[in-house]
Amino acid sequence: RGELRFEDVHFGYDPEREILKGVSFTVPPGTTLAIVGPSGAGKSTLARLIYRFYDPQGGRILIDGQDITAVTQASLRSAIGIVPQDTVLFNDTIGYNIGYGRDGASQAEIEAAAGGASIDRFIAALPDGYEAMVGERGLKLSGGEKQRVAIARTLLKNPPVLILDEATSALDSRTEEAIQDTLNRVSANRTTITIAHRLSTVVGADQIMVLDAGQVAERGTHGELLRKG
Ligand code: ADP
Ligand code: ADP
Repeated sequence: RGELRFEDVHFGYDPEREILKGVSFTVPPGTTLAIVGPSGAGKSTLARLIYRFYDPQGGRILIDGQDITAVTQASLRSAIGIVPQDTVLFNDTIGYNIGYGRDGASQAEIEAAAGGASIDRFIAALPDGYEAMVGERGLKLSGGEKQRVAIARTLLKNPPVLILDEATSALDSRTEEAIQDTLNRVSANRTTITIAHRLSTVVGADQIMVLDAGQVAERGTHGELLRKG
């Protein structure tokens, strides 16, 4: 479950200027596609179309063979988890945030959603156990901790398709590596689209696609792309 397919997708925010100019690709179920490319290439726009913030003006997007415009918003949003670059958390407890409005997810639920990884990997800076902190308000979180909370709550939905839109790029490189490491582990058996600004953060991806000016410029494994220069 979780095959994602773009068929000749065209999109522009305004009719005068096309941003995606006929994008086609398939991500097999359970694999990771990294999308890299220059700023302004249309990477975030592509992610927004999967989540149906906007619909294509030409072509189709299919999940498991079904056009996403033909499914209800509710079932699409349970099939897809998205972690944006700049996370906005509820002004409430960590538990409320991770539970995504359900009051306080349990540690067991979160660990299960994270594929057995310890919650400490997500909220590394919390002292002595997540359970004790879960109901506490007014915790001061760093950018990295906030991103961990955002990632954890998205994983808790256990979506077949996970979209990470530069989810770690605003962080320092050590924190970024630590979170990417966790993400690589939890994205096994999950269809993952990861948008990145650096090729080095997506070494673990099954396939890498270079998007340039709204078109697929290259596609291959990390090794293949390095050989091509
Ligand atoms: P990337 O993620 O590759 O940096 P984006 O998808 O963010 O690229 O942007 C692609 C182009 O679309 C850019 O020229 C950007 O200015 C434009 N764009 C992005 N979001 C909007 C928007 N909400 N309204 C109008 N234009 C937009
Ligand atoms: P749910 O799927 O639980 O109903 P939402 O659909 O509101 O939640 O949001 C799911 C995810 O999408 C959240 O991580 C949220 O931060 C993110 N998100 C919501 N709106 C936007 C947006 N305009 N741009 C980028 N990410 C967004």
